[in-house]
Amino acid sequence: METTPWVKNEDVVLDQILRPKSWSEYVGQEKIKQNLKILIEAAKKRSEPIEHVLLYGPAGLGKTTLAHLIARELGSTIKITSGPAIEKVGDLAAILTNLSAGDILFIDEAHRLNKLIEEILYPAMESRMLDIVVGKGPSARTLQLQLPPFTLIAATTRIGMLSSPLRSRFGVTFRLNFYEQKDVEQIVEHSAKTLNVTLAKSAVEEIAKRSRFTPRVANRLLKRVRDYAQVKEVDQIDSGVSRKALELLEIDESGLEPTDRRLLETIITKFDGGPVGLQSLAAATSEEESTIADIYEPFLLQLGLIARTGRGRIATKLAYKHLGVSHQKDDSSQTSLL
Ligand code: ADP
Repeated sequence: METTPWVKNEDVVLDQILRPKSWSEYVGQEKIKQNLKILIEAAKKRSEPIEHVLLYGPAGLGKTTLAHLIARELGSTIKITSGPAIEKVGDLAAILTNLSAGDILFIDEAHRLNKLIEEILYPAMESRMLDIVVGKGPSARTLQLQLPPFTLIAATTRIGMLSSPLRSRFGVTFRLNFYEQKDVEQIVEHSAKTLNVTLAKSAVEEIAKRSRFTPRVANRLLKRVRDYAQVKEVDQIDSGVSRKALELLEIDESGLEPTDRRLLETIITKFDGGPVGLQSLAAATSEEESTIADIYEPFLLQLGLIARTGRGRIATKLAYKHLGVSHQKDDSSQTSLL
């Protein structure tokens, strides 16, 4: 499976080991689970595939996991690809013509599908027709193929980048939110059991608190804490051990990593608190625009450390406070932009 550039190989392996295998293991996102269960039940009763599903929300919140759970619940085969992996119309045609009745096609990073591919997808989603042009120039002709009934599940971190004709072709759209502290604690506890790590309750709380309320991050931090405990030869992993391990990684009390702080510092020092566009921020910090937008920004927005305005991102008063920098900017100029 193609993965996003910032998801390291180690994360992919960890994701696979710890990925929930049943609804009961899938913690939180209760409304989405309820809605999906109804959708699945109804489709089963009608012996039809479920409608196309669009899942969106920041990375690591469980979109891929949901797609797997839906397939499992339906007893369907899931075929996995991603927006950037489908480069040519022929790639998509090959994927679609290889589907069997009832299959699920999962397209990750759907916002990175090119427009030509999207246009082939529309009739495939709507009426299960695949229109392909064979040949070139005057002898070119269009072939129309009937596809078996299938369900497309698309996932994206940036719904705004999906064209509206594509968005409108999904029967249901769900937004995944950051998890609550208690949910992340449950995930950490479950993962610790799976990885054979014994954690004190206080350690579970500490890891969850610094996890950006994101399951993938929580699992990664758990692994780092385990490594630290192993090297330091501590048997009982409590909050003190976890804190030390996470401080060594420069993950602060709120879960901010060095890159988060660098982004905030850049907005404050180089752009006088903003507003600054994504492109300029990426250039000034040598980070990829997509990495900022998909990984860092959603959590900084969630914590209220940055705000998005029509003219770009601004660092809020809270960001100054978090970094211990005095806030001399006239606030009226910021609020008027919101
Ligand atoms: P996304 O596709 O949104 O980037 P994934 O579905 O790949 O996220 O989830 C990343 C990892 O986080 C999974 O492998 C799983 O271990 C864990 N995870 C995600 N959501 C949940 C959840 N609701 N309950 C338990 N673990 C979860």
